Parts: sequence; structure tokens; C-alpha cells
Amino acid sequence: MYNWRLSSKNRLIMVITEIEAKSILRKHKKIDSWFVSRYGMNLYRGCIHDCVYCDGRAERYNVDGDFGKDIAVKVNAIELLERELDPRRKRIPLIKGFIILGGGVGDSYQPAEKRYQLTRKALELLLDYDFPVHILTKSTLVERDIDLLTEINKKSKVLVSISFSSTDEEISRRFEPRVPSPRERLNLLKEIKKQGIACGMFLMPVIPHITDTPHLLDQSLARAAEAKLDYVIFSGMTLKPGRQQDHFFAVLRESYPELLEEYHSIYANAGKWGNASYEYYDQLHLLFDKIAGQYKIPRRIPLGHFKDHINENDRVVIILEQMDYILKMRGQKSPYGYGAYSISQLKQPIGELTNSLRQLKGVGPVTERIVREILQTGSSTYYEKLMS
Ligand code: SF4
Repeated sequence: MYNWRLSSKNRLIMVITEIEAKSILRKHKKIDSWFVSRYGMNLYRGCIHDCVYCDGRAERYNVDGDFGKDIAVKVNAIELLERELDPRRKRIPLIKGFIILGGGVGDSYQPAEKRYQLTRKALELLLDYDFPVHILTKSTLVERDIDLLTEINKKSKVLVSISFSSTDEEISRRFEPRVPSPRERLNLLKEIKKQGIACGMFLMPVIPHITDTPHLLDQSLARAAEAKLDYVIFSGMTLKPGRQQDHFFAVLRESYPELLEEYHSIYANAGKWGNASYEYYDQLHLLFDKIAGQYKIPRRIPLGHFKDHINENDRVVIILEQMDYILKMRGQKSPYGYGAYSISQLKQPIGELTNSLRQLKGVGPVTERIVREILQTGSSTYYEKLMS
């Protein structure tokens, strides 16, 4: 176990424990249409960035110790990854699809990465094995790997997303105490875009009554538009009862005591997923959709950035799920989510079922027509209209 002293006042802010993982690639049960990924990977557990709202500290993720200080490093991760990617070691080869590095229970570019370089070594392997990559981070250390990301992007595909709770510098210092400022993060996205890599903002979570105001949403989207980002993915905040909620409320009590009552009201029925009330989320989504529309920014990762790097079933699922998301965000009914789920569970290529699509649960005449169009043309006119 190492102790790192990172602050100028010689205050201990990080304790590193080296651990051996049993496996490294997390296979999603179905393609994830938020991140367009098939697989995820956590190289570190715990995150020194210590964002106040981080749900990685919730008990359900089993991260031991103090989430913002005790960092577990999976020192055998690269050996495991090589074994798990190698098709010669597999009876059934992995389905090709994006691997997301980041999010979850620790940022892949947090300070420990400077010493261990696990993310860089993982990218080298993903380049060799020709897998597309989605990076999601809050750190500007990703700049170190632009050379590799550019190579992967030429061979398969790379998406780089950086997350923000807003682009307000002062609020970020309070809620994201150990990450580069929003201005630095945006500048880096502009740099990465110059290399021809698709880049986006994950505006998540927005913090109720602090970063969800019309003014700050407008500011964030204006800066994303000015940086010519390819997408802005948005989400309200969840607060899971237990460690996550306790930690957040301690900071709120100190910095925004006047909001406590309101928070207790909107998170009164948070449940195990920590959800705010439907009324709150519904209003927020309508507001975001309206402002994103004014700036003409896609609210989902556009199809053109990933369609050639996933299989046909996954393409159909993502298109239907993205339509479902946009319609629900606008308070409209959608028949597409259920059909998408049925298709995601198919074992055979959907192209073999062109004449029996209606036998799938949740696929009615409208969904059938759209799926047929996707199979024939690679997209759907209704989808393109919703996304524009
Ligand atoms: S950077 Fe991400 S994983 Fe790390 S504390 Fe912040 S939200 Fe959590």
C-alpha cells in the first residue's frame, strides 16, 4: 500500500492499494445506447476527483474505504484484458463494439494514472485488437493519449466525452474539487476535435436548483455549440440513500442550507436508484430539450459516429432507443423502447427475421415499418427528423 501526498500543505489526500482483479471487461447485457458501448472497464476503484454528487460512493458499488481518498489500482488489468480480448482464447469471439473507459466507480484519468498508465496500456491493446473506444472523463490528462486515440480513430473509431455539471467555474470548484476547470476541459475538447475525433459534453448530472437553471443550462449549451461539439448528453441528478446522499447533503448544508428543504422534497421517494420526483425530471428535460434545440445540438450521440462500428442488431436497438428517449424527453408517448428491448435479446441477426418482425414482443406496425427501413437503408427518416 502506498500513501501519496499530493497537496502543497503536505496533507495526505490519497492512499493507493494495489489489487488483483479476477476479470476486467464488463459485458453489458445489451448495447448501452447512452454510451453506444458493448463493454465497460474500471481500472481504478475510488476516485480522487471526489465530485460531491458522485454516485460511485453509493453502497451498491461496493467501493471500500473513503471514496475520494482510498484508490484501488487493478495492477493485473492489462494482462487480464489481453487474455479477454484474444480471439484465440475464446470459444465464441467477442462481439465487436465500443468499449467505454471511464465513469462508474473511478475516472480512468485520475492522478493515479500518471504513475500506473493502465488506461494508456489498455488503449494500446484496443488498438492492436481493433476495438472502437469511448472515453468518458473529467480529467485533462487524456491529452497525453491524443497520439494513440488518433491512431485508434483512423483504424476503428474513438469518441471522447468530457463530463460537466455546468460550465460555471465557481460552482465547479465547490462540487468538483479536484478536476480541471470547465474552461480547461472545454479547451481540451476543442484540441481533440482538431484531430478529427468526435467529441461531446456529458452534461451530467445537473444539480437541482444550482446548475439546472435556465441561465446555466443556456451557458453550458452555448459553450458546447461554440466549441462545435458533436453532442451533449444530459441527465438530472440521482441521490442514492446512504453514503452518496449523506455526503451530498453535508456539503449542501454547509454551502446552500436554504435548499435543504427543497431537496428533501424532490428526493422524498428516491428509492434505491436515488431518483428525484418525476415532476422535477419532466420539467428539466423539457427545458433542456428546448435550449438544445435553439443551439441545434444533438441530444444523443449521432448515428454517423458509430454506425459502421456496431452490428446490425445493435444499430436497430440504438436507433429505436434514441427515438424513445427523445419522445419521452418531450413528454410524448413512445412505442419504441419495448420493441428495442426484444430486439436486443435476439441471438440471430435481425435481417433473418424481416418477414416475421411482428412476432417480436413490442413490435407493432409502426415499429416494424421503421425497423424495415433501417435494415434497407441503415437509418430511418423519422429518426433523422427527431434527431435534427
Ligand atoms: S470524476 Fe467521475 S468517477 Fe470521479 S468522482 Fe467525479 S463523477 Fe465520480
